[in-house]
Amino acid sequence: MAATGKSIAIPAILKVGRGTLDQIGSYLREENFKNVVIYFGNGLIELFGMKVMDSLKEADIEVLEYREIDTVCIDDIVEMAFTLPGKVQTIISIGGGKVIDAGKYAAFLRGLPFISVPTSSSSDGFSSASASLIVEGRRTSVPARLAHGIIVDTEVIRTAPERFIYSGIGDMVSKITALYDWLFEARAGYAQMNDFAVMIAKKAVNSFVRTPFQNIQEELFLKELLDSLAMSGIANEIAGSSAPTSGSEHLISHALDKLLETPQLHGIQVGVATYLMARVQDHRYVRVNTIFTDTGFWKYVKTLGMKKVDFSRAIDMAPSIKPHRHTYLHEEFYREMAKRLLEEDALLNRILV
Ligand SMILES: [Zn+2]
Repeated sequence: MAATGKSIAIPAILKVGRGTLDQIGSYLREENFKNVVIYFGNGLIELFGMKVMDSLKEADIEVLEYREIDTVCIDDIVEMAFTLPGKVQTIISIGGGKVIDAGKYAAFLRGLPFISVPTSSSSDGFSSASASLIVEGRRTSVPARLAHGIIVDTEVIRTAPERFIYSGIGDMVSKITALYDWLFEARAGYAQMNDFAVMIAKKAVNSFVRTPFQNIQEELFLKELLDSLAMSGIANEIAGSSAPTSGSEHLISHALDKLLETPQLHGIQVGVATYLMARVQDHRYVRVNTIFTDTGFWKYVKTLGMKKVDFSRAIDMAPSIKPHRHTYLHEEFYREMAKRLLEEDALLNRILV
């Protein structure tokens, strides 16, 4: 037999565009799903329930159970997974990060295909293979599986509060520093890069940052953002780890989540840390600044009162978040540089307090 490359799972359904939520029934029908369970995020049955049920009914798909879910506690999800109706063929999650992670993990536990329907663009979690759950009181990233289907309605994304779009922008731009950290790690002999994963993640972020736009709610801009976020999740699947899309900037954000009573949205924290780390890496920080300026990301961040001192503590904590990795922040020299830049960089001084 001829040698073949690495095999990976890819989504069988990948729909990103205007009005896709109305078509959910026909997409599932094409995959021969007849009996489904739907999890909605908090308050979303009222917003999208009717639209989704109508579309499924029209396609002759039976909804065995539907409910709103507001937990990412692993024990709750195990219980949900093992009390599912017997005939269920697929689990659909409609909503933000929490309900997507819960559904993704329940489907993984039961070996069922998962349909991911994000209603906001706050991160690339909707297309990633792992889930962020609460295990014994701590946020923990647990392995799951890439979604069988990803359905994103840009019309829905547009109507979500603007901060979710900013968060998606921050999470997307972070691939610039994440990829550079991965290269750094590989050069230091701590990791092996997968060239195809690098190519996909790089193309995703570059295509996004080069998209011309007048405002961030334009169809083309949102489609680019969501397409690129979906592609980065798939880059992780290819790499078999989150290294292509999550580097030192993500460690800072994870540390802030642990340190702060009320952290900001994932991609907001990640975005600020991306600019800081791009300065540390001395790599493409002008590009990062340009996209954050043009989209209004900085303007939004300035209203939040995020503190330099918190970022400084997060930098110290960063290496302990993923001790097995070797990003720039795993070296004392670069941690000190990052903390110095917090004090000296004019832009950071304008947007942080
Ligand atoms: Zn992220």
